[in-house]
This record gives sequence, structure tokens and C-alpha cells, in this order.
Amino acid sequence: MKRIVLLILIGQFVACQSRQKELNLSQGLHIPNATIISTEDGTYTPFIGHVVVEKDKILYVDEKEPRITGTFERIDGSGKFVVPGLIDSHVHITEVQGMLPHHMEKYPEITEEFNRQMPKSYLYHGFTTLVNLGGISQEQIDDFNSQPLRPDLYHTGRSGASVANGYPMNFAPEHHRFEATPNFIYLESEAERIPHKFEPADHTPMAVVGRIKRSGAIAVKSYYESGFRGMPKLPVPTREIMEELLEESHANGLVLTVHGNSLEAHSFLAGVGVDVLAHGLWNWERYKDVPKDSLPLEVKQTLDLIIQKQIGYTPTLTVIAGEEALADDRFLNQPGLKKVVPQKLLDWYRTEEGQWFANELFGEYGVDQVHTIYENIQAHAMLALKYLSDNNGLILFGTDTPSSPTYGNQPGHNGYWEFKLMEEAGVPLHQILSSATINNAKAFHLDAQLGSITTGKKANLVLLSKNPLKEIEAYNTIEQVIVGGKRIERKKLEISE
Ligand SMILES: [Zn+2]
Repeated sequence: MKRIVLLILIGQFVACQSRQKELNLSQGLHIPNATIISTEDGTYTPFIGHVVVEKDKILYVDEKEPRITGTFERIDGSGKFVVPGLIDSHVHITEVQGMLPHHMEKYPEITEEFNRQMPKSYLYHGFTTLVNLGGISQEQIDDFNSQPLRPDLYHTGRSGASVANGYPMNFAPEHHRFEATPNFIYLESEAERIPHKFEPADHTPMAVVGRIKRSGAIAVKSYYESGFRGMPKLPVPTREIMEELLEESHANGLVLTVHGNSLEAHSFLAGVGVDVLAHGLWNWERYKDVPKDSLPLEVKQTLDLIIQKQIGYTPTLTVIAGEEALADDRFLNQPGLKKVVPQKLLDWYRTEEGQWFANELFGEYGVDQVHTIYENIQAHAMLALKYLSDNNGLILFGTDTPSSPTYGNQPGHNGYWEFKLMEEAGVPLHQILSSATINNAKAFHLDAQLGSITTGKKANLVLLSKNPLKEIEAYNTIEQVIVGGKRIERKKLEISE
């Protein structure tokens, strides 16, 4: 009797072990035998297994092969690697790189061609989610979302929460800047220069954050910038304003992400404890001439506070590299650019007109001088990043594409460049992948849907022929991009000649 019970138990055990999960699909995708690389907490244990997608969701992830019936596609994953769709949490899709509004008006065809290609260029490099960290109109959102092949787009509303006459509204002409920045914050000290038609009550942190929330945003973008490149000293938010912005953001379920790249800005923002720093700390002010490899105590203490409070830190190393690129005549000759930037636009960049920003930035400087200046800033940016990375900082992947009217930050291409610069800075490959997946998803409250290869999450995936935990170049070996369960061959995303 005892023996029979035992046999039955063993039988059940075997049945349980070998029973295949049965899946009936109506609009499915099966990727068998791929190395699945995903994490919830930053540690990776890749395994060879199966990913099954039904419609726009991940239905199954496991080592064991499921038994699938119904209607589905199969992509053999043997020898290949699947990672979650990449998230760039700092872009501006509202620009044509290298152009000012009057250039876009003068060249509507180039502008149109660029805007049709731009969403595909992000996908081409594996970016299935973008966060637009600056002003965007509903029309621009709708236009982007009407494209058949595009990443998911999240935004921060009609404009950032810039203080009156502060960065970046200072770039707009005075008669126009307040209309162009509907979410500006009223500053008593600027009252004389604010047109009377704007009511202070409509421009408190509470009123502004409420408006941003109602526009469908996921985050509030603000700024702490006292000026650079010979600008007059700009007004900056007071501690009280920044604390109110943070409090109101949280009360509305939004993330507060703030522009800042100087020691003054980072130490102020770390003190307040904002959610995300939209840039790395590369403007070391009075320490700007210290040797490239030394981290001044004050910089280190600020980074320590950022780490201790687990504030998201977005390195955006390509901000520096993408400006320096204007002094490098090899930049535009990179073969990879032709795949993601329309030829007519590449040609325009080479004209005298297209060189306007390079001329404005570097005017009297020689090429060598430019490189010396930027190499120094980048060395500091990398040193700060390495310190964050070595000490458990929360690194978020973001490029700030484009960070200025430079043609040096191109959609998608710039993301791949950012990956390479992060590796150059000494960030380990597993941290780089987390920064562009789970870290960004969590920091921007998107992790219920995005950031890992988990049953129930949205089917945003990238299939690579090389392993991104082994070599950074893997990010340029994308074979397929899957957005919301829709499979797209990489080749279909590039500009056809
Ligand atoms: Zn930006």
C-alpha cells in the first residue's frame, strides 16, 4: 500500500515537471531559445528560454518550452539575446537637430522628412520609450503618435516649470517668452518684467503642477541654471519654490526632474531632494581647472548626498560630446548617420548656413582649443559618473537629444553614443543596461508596464545578435525591435537609399 502511494506521488511529480504550459494565441509571437536578459533589482541571471507575447503583452517567460496553439509568429532566438525595450528619459522630439524655427520654415521639406524618420531612428537603436523633457504641444504629441512605427512617448506638458525670465525661457524674445512658457513660475523679484495679464495666482507651483498634470504628463520638468557661456546671471528658483514643486508633484503622482549641471545646482537640488537630476555634474565652477583625474571634496560630498537620497542621476554625456562634435569634421561622415538622418539634412549641415551654431559657439577658438576645453569638461563628467556608479548611485539613462541646436545629437544614434561614453567612463555593462530599462521605468513610475521582461508587462523588447552584458557594441547589433507586440525588422527602420 505504502509503495503504491509513493508511486502515485512520483507519477504526479513527473507529470507536473513535464507538463507543458499550454498557450492559445490569437495574435501571438514566440521567441524560443533566446538568452533572456532582464532584471527587477539590478542583478542579472540571464537564461536561455522562451518569451511569448499575445497582442501587446508579455504572456509567458520561462526556460521551459510552452505548447502553443492558435495564430502566432515565431522568431528563432537561438544564439541571440532579448532585452527589455530601451528607455531614453531625456529627449526633445520637438526640434529638428541643428535648426532654429526660421530654418525649419525655410526648409519645410527637410523638416517634414526629418519628422517622418525621427521616430523610426529611435526604434532603429532599440529605444521603444521616450520621455520628452521640455515643452511639447498637443499637436506635436498627436503628430508623433500618428506615425505607424514609433516609440511610446511620455511628456512633461506644454512647457517646463521655469522661473520667470529664468532658463530656458531666457532664450525666447521678451515679448514672446511668457506666452511660450505657459507653466512659468511667478517670481516676486521679476514682477516688474512680467506682463500684467499674467496673474500671479496662475503661476504658483500648485497652479502650474496642476496644469501639467491635467495635460497628461508623467513628470514636471524644472530648471536650476544661473547661466553659462557669458549669459547674464539668470534668476533661479528659491528653495521654497523647489520644495513646493516637489510637494505638488508628489501630491499629483508626478516625478520632479530638474535641469542642472553645475556644482551649485546639484548641491541645491540634492539638498531639496528632487526626484531626478536631468544632467550629470560636469560644471565644477571654481574647481574647473583641477587635474582631470581628481574629484574635489565638495563635488564628492554633493555626489554622496545624491547617492544617499537615491536621486536619479542622468549623465547625458552626449550633451558635451554633441557640442564638441561641431568642431570635428569627421562627425558627419560616420556611416551610421546615413541610416537615421535624411541625406538632405546631412548635406545642409555641411553648408555655411548649416554651420551657424558651430560658428556662433566657437567663433574665435581654434579646433585644438575647443577639444581641450570639452575634453576637460567631459573628463569631469565621467569622473562624477564613475563615482556614482562605484557607490551605488541611481543612474538613469538619458541623452538630452538634442541638448542645444547642435547637429551632434541625432535621434537614436545619440543613444548608442551615450552607451559607449558611459562605458568609457567606467560604468559596468550591467549597470548601463539597468539604467536604460528598469531604473528609468521605476524612476518615472512606468514599471508596472515597462522596464523588464515580465509576464503582464507591455511587449517592448529588443532582439540582439550580441550580448550587451559582454560588449557595448551589442547595442548596435539589433535584429528586431518589438513595440507593443509588433515586430519590426531593424532594416525596415533605416533610411532606404
Ligand atoms: Zn533637455
